[in-house]
Amino acid sequence: MPLYSHSRLGTYENCPFQYKLRYVDKIKPILGNSIESFMGSMVHDSLEWLYKLAQDSNIVSKESLIRKYEDLWSENWKDNIRVIKKELTADNFKETGKTCLEMYYDRYHPFDQAITIGLEERMIIELPEDKKMQGYIDRLDKIGDGHLSVHDYKTSNRVPPQAKADQDRQLGLYALAVHQKYPDIKKIDLVWHYVRFDEEVRSSRTQQQLDTMVENTVNLIKDVEKATDLKNFPTKTSILCNWCEFKAQCPEYSHQYASENVVPVLDTTTMTAAQAAETVDKLVELKEKKKTLSADMDAMIETLESKLITYSKESGHSSVFGKDYKASFKEAEAFKAPGQKDLRRYNLESVLEEMDLLDSFQQTSLSWSRLKSKLKSDDLTPEQKAKILENMDVEKATTFTLKKL
Ligand code: SF4
Repeated sequence: MPLYSHSRLGTYENCPFQYKLRYVDKIKPILGNSIESFMGSMVHDSLEWLYKLAQDSNIVSKESLIRKYEDLWSENWKDNIRVIKKELTADNFKETGKTCLEMYYDRYHPFDQAITIGLEERMIIELPEDKKMQGYIDRLDKIGDGHLSVHDYKTSNRVPPQAKADQDRQLGLYALAVHQKYPDIKKIDLVWHYVRFDEEVRSSRTQQQLDTMVENTVNLIKDVEKATDLKNFPTKTSILCNWCEFKAQCPEYSHQYASENVVPVLDTTTMTAAQAAETVDKLVELKEKKKTLSADMDAMIETLESKLITYSKESGHSSVFGKDYKASFKEAEAFKAPGQKDLRRYNLESVLEEMDLLDSFQQTSLSWSRLKSKLKSDDLTPEQKAKILENMDVEKATTFTLKKL
């Protein structure tokens, strides 16, 4: 029975195909880690180091903390780490991480708000129906007798609203894990540290909230298991694909990778990746050309129609004969409805109401087509028509038809 985690389930929710590659096939990603994730790890490791020393009464200076962060950065840096946002560099992220730590240090120094009883604490969570999960709590503090707080550091660039924190599965799982490991605990505070913003988001869970979270999580695990049995892991594209380490191995993006990198030419295909890319460009070019040509043709048709209409009016011929077709012209009155902001629209509705006709033209809004056909019929008296038309424009429009001889 696999051991699930919040991030494992999150991967499935975000993209079942990524879940398959990472957890079922256990494939090594071709692409490197994202800089956001790398920076987050370095900040986490630095804070873990800080609190580990603080547990032994060694409160390091802010400068030492930053030096540690920089050392961790250089020791763990890999050249394949990807900076996805084009306008930023790796140094920008390094600097952001540094600022996060400086702000954190200034806020909590000398780190004696509570007694740290766990760092990177592994928790096993027992769920109904023999399901099991694991998680690592960044920091577990003792606030007082029967009172603990769970701390999680976040380097993301958005602070979630309180409602999200109150429903978040990860925080709920932490609360449950602590309840299971320390059954005598009466109060558990859940604290998210949004270190980019020097912001704490605090939450807690009632028994009822935990029950709902457990039920939803077990159902999600069942969905994952069903997908695993059926081998049903569809791709799910989203903005997150840009950060996906499996982009080069995913059918949604593998061609992009193949056409931008030197990859072995497949002997199963009738063209190379580069040729396929050129074919897409050619296709787009042709479709664009077709669109322009079609617009040009429409303009030419309009000109010819207008010329024929003018000729018909000048000559009095209501039909003009070509070799195989005849063009016929009919002039009729067209009623134009006043626009939403036109005062006459309000007047028109009042007039119709006075005549007790408004309901017959209106369901959710005024039906112009019904009103226009009524105006053309003999159902309305000439006086009624005149009163209605005071609030509408009447234009002469020529209809044009082509008929085979
Ligand atoms: S690139 Fe997108 S669709 Fe493909 S595996 Fe990654 S997240 Fe899923």
